[in-house]
Amino acid sequence: MNIQSLSTEQLQSLEQELTAEYKSFQAQDLKLDLTRGKPSSEQLSLSDSLDGILTGNYKNEDGTDTRNYGGIDGIIEMKRLGAAVLGVEQNEILVGGNASLTLMYQCVLQAYLFGFDGPDSAWNKEEKVKFACPVPGYDRHFSICEAFGIEMVNVPMTDTGPDIEALTDLVKSDPSVKGIWCVPKYSNPTGIIYSDETVAAIAGLANIAGPNFKVFWDNAYIVHDLVANPGTLANVMASAKEQGTQDSILQFCSTSKITHAGAGVAFLNATEKNLATFKKSLGIATIGPDKINQLRHAILLPNMDALAAHMRKHAEILKPRFDLVLSALQEAFGDNDLGSWESPEGGYFISFDTQPGLAKEVVSLAGQAGVKLTPAGATFPYGEDPNDQNIRIAPSVPTLQEVESAMQIFVNCVKLATVRKALA
Ligand code: PMP
Repeated sequence: MNIQSLSTEQLQSLEQELTAEYKSFQAQDLKLDLTRGKPSSEQLSLSDSLDGILTGNYKNEDGTDTRNYGGIDGIIEMKRLGAAVLGVEQNEILVGGNASLTLMYQCVLQAYLFGFDGPDSAWNKEEKVKFACPVPGYDRHFSICEAFGIEMVNVPMTDTGPDIEALTDLVKSDPSVKGIWCVPKYSNPTGIIYSDETVAAIAGLANIAGPNFKVFWDNAYIVHDLVANPGTLANVMASAKEQGTQDSILQFCSTSKITHAGAGVAFLNATEKNLATFKKSLGIATIGPDKINQLRHAILLPNMDALAAHMRKHAEILKPRFDLVLSALQEAFGDNDLGSWESPEGGYFISFDTQPGLAKEVVSLAGQAGVKLTPAGATFPYGEDPNDQNIRIAPSVPTLQEVESAMQIFVNCVKLATVRKALA
């Protein structure tokens, strides 16, 4: 369907056809939801053996009674797992509670209020603090910046990660840019993997940035492959060490989308120096993390082989949902310019760009036909997509049948919004 080549009469008759189809969807009174990227109950059940897995033995391999207080940086088994997942040194891992988002928040808090290098390094000593935000990106990262009054500067995403020229120009020219948010593998929401050159460039940003620059490397989807031989992500900490910028790297991941999303284990990877600083503050807020849950996880996932086998079970459940979304998009928009998208090999999202100015309308139309989508703009700082075109599709929770129905409606809404605009 090439909208530009249609006459007004043809557009009008297409609009009538699409409206009739849209009304038939409305009449079905469906309640479908493609909003948040969370695991389905079927996925959560893959880890139900966590419950009762300890069978009364609460001691870990070094004899720590995990029921008691203490162990601010977590148990040894989980440090080993976190280090293996991220490809870093075990002494550069802190194992926390159930949410990596909390660790990210606490790291921003540390950098902002106390500094990682003494009080003079605290960002709040600066007149202005800014973050580079690759867009589209993860809304909860942006919420952390907003909570601290950190100004967010958009950097466009490409299919190899943030536009490195734009990013380096920004960081070089503006020393008030103190950080960047990155989801380097199966980026939320575009699903791409940062290229090796991009990883190296971001790992080295601290060499061209103003003082106290930090890279928030949110590796939430590092083991969340959907295909057998996925693309690989370069090691940011290794690259930073080569460039002498290792103290600028704060890397995060968690088992939220591996085991139980609300009751998993989170990891922070940073240099020993940064971890020591972080632990000092953390030790004021808590006497230690939930080590019993860490031990449960260590038994369920004793090594990388066990983890990989577990992730394959997730992929078996998730992949058909992604395939349905992608084939619906391909069939409807593969031969025209009504929309564009990436085909991710992992993660939780498919990101769809409408023609400029239509995302809000599509989300609204879909909502009125029973398909809930993440609000347009949510993938941008301050909820403002300057081109009003990005929509994040999260197909993990609905059933296959529901994903199929939701995509029929989505496709109809994209076409309808585009044709109506052409007629306006
Ligand atoms: N980072 C990204 C990029 C995410 O998509 C999510 C979950 N949607 C999180 C972090 C949240 O992780 P956690 O549950 O460990 O806080």
